[in-house]
Amino acid sequence: MVKADLHIHSNMSPDSKEDIDSICLKAIELGLDTIAISDHYEFYWPGREHNIFNFKHVEEEQKIVEKARIHYNGSLNILFAIEIGQPHLDFHNAMRLTSSFDFDFILASFHKVGGTDLAFHDYQDDEERRRTLLEYLDGLLLIASAFDFDSLAHLDLVKRYSLRHGRMLGIEEEEERVRAVLKTLAMRGKALEVNTSLLRSYVEPMPSQSVLRWFKEEGGEFVTLGSDAHRSSDIAFEFDSVYDMINSCGFSSPVIYKNRRPCNCTFSGGSLC
Ligand SMILES: [Zn+2]
Ligand SMILES: [Zn+2]
Repeated sequence: MVKADLHIHSNMSPDSKEDIDSICLKAIELGLDTIAISDHYEFYWPGREHNIFNFKHVEEEQKIVEKARIHYNGSLNILFAIEIGQPHLDFHNAMRLTSSFDFDFILASFHKVGGTDLAFHDYQDDEERRRTLLEYLDGLLLIASAFDFDSLAHLDLVKRYSLRHGRMLGIEEEEERVRAVLKTLAMRGKALEVNTSLLRSYVEPMPSQSVLRWFKEEGGEFVTLGSDAHRSSDIAFEFDSVYDMINSCGFSSPVIYKNRRPCNCTFSGGSLC
């Protein structure tokens, strides 16, 4: 099995200070074969723009990854990846982004429901909770149905943020809608990410074992594994503890990507077969 962390943020993301060398050296120290540098690119509701997220910035990211790839050749396989948030809010430009660069791997995610980051929603009010969950799942279904990506990141992100507000909101409350998202992923040959960042503060990764099992039941074939590290100390966090869970849900092992295709390849001195 290739040991890979396919969800890492460098200081090219606005919420990370970690430079790519620290990330690569830590990954090598941990014995990883492959990492994906998957910096953020967020789409917003019309009228709200962010200075950082533009194609010029992605070009710079690509150059940094290429340079590191040459520098660490033979020690580490480095994927040029991206985490695209809310692509369904601007499908045209999101699709233009995915086709304009030679990404190895694309994560899709949904961080901002109704224009507000999930970190700032009210999880105490019953009506607001339900509205947030339904809108979140509707957005995920749109992304899963029509966007050009490889793996859907942190499927139950609402859990991470609602726990911080002291009242958990689990996507398991809406099984039918969640299964619709999972079935769509499976039918399109997309992967579901197992994201270990929640294990830093809670007993389960994202998604939970039961939801991962639903993915298998709906025909899901591919799982990717990511720490969502924004600091090198979080790279591959608790990976050993989730391999068993992934296997027990019927998936042989997490896949990695090469030129946007899933593969179970072996790693040999800096390149994948
Ligand atoms: Zn994310
Ligand atoms: Zn992330």
